[in-house]
Amino acid sequence: MRCQLCLNISWHPLCKNCLSTILTPTPSKRVLENGLIVYSFYKYSEISNLLHTKHTYHGAKIFSLLSKHAVLPFIKSFTCKDIFSLPIDDHIRSGYSHSAIITKELSKYLRPLYSKLRAKNRTRYSGQKLDVRKKEKRDFTLTCKDNINVILIDDIVTSGNTLIEANEICEKSNVNVLFAIVLADANEDK
Ligand SMILES: [Zn+2]
Repeated sequence: MRCQLCLNISWHPLCKNCLSTILTPTPSKRVLENGLIVYSFYKYSEISNLLHTKHTYHGAKIFSLLSKHAVLPFIKSFTCKDIFSLPIDDHIRSGYSHSAIITKELSKYLRPLYSKLRAKNRTRYSGQKLDVRKKEKRDFTLTCKDNINVILIDDIVTSGNTLIEANEICEKSNVNVLFAIVLADANEDK
């Protein structure tokens, strides 16, 4: 196959050269209005073309490669004992779930809680415009044990409303959110 960026022949949809040059992550920290810390690894504009890959197989593979490349080294640097990862609404709609893929790549260090934090409002779709995603209330349900430490996992942060809403239901359910991890930050102000 060919690298989706440079179009050179590659074993993976992103080649080693692109990963180590233009896809070098730039970890950054953002504090949401409720105090929740969000770590991101790319600016949304830098990788938006990749995130909207048309072919499902490539899309899933690209998410997996970027998670391994950018997020995993960050998580490794923590001493993560008994910390759970809680992907946001890891429901499979377009063949795969972004947040579940990121979670899976981190599963050596964080214990995954798949399908526990689900949105009752399912109008969101990965291809949807960012301004639509921003306005939506997700109306989450959480079904996991309490008194645990979790890291929220999502693909993109925009206004932060989804993460704030997820954090709220965790608080209500006695689940302690340490921070959130997303692949890309789409905050236009930055
Ligand atoms: Zn390349």
